[in-house]
Amino acid sequence: MILFGKKPEPKPTLHTEQTCGSCGDKERRPFEQGDYVFKGGARCIKCNSATLVTAIYGEYPPEKKS
Ligand SMILES: [Zn+2]
Repeated sequence: MILFGKKPEPKPTLHTEQTCGSCGDKERRPFEQGDYVFKGGARCIKCNSATLVTAIYGEYPPEKKS
C-alpha cells in the first residue's frame, strides 16, 4: 500500500479559561505551559480578585476547502 502525500495534521490552538471567584467574570487567554484546571489564575481584570482556571480547550482552525 502506498501512501500519497501526508496530510499535515492541523494543530489545535489551546485556550485557557479562568473564572473570577468574586464577580464570576470569565477571561479567555492563550494557554500557557503549566496551566491546568483549578490552578489559580491571574487577578481578575474587573475586580482584582483571585481567579481560577476552569477550562482548557483546543480549537482547530477552520478547515479550508480547496
Ligand atoms: Zn472579578
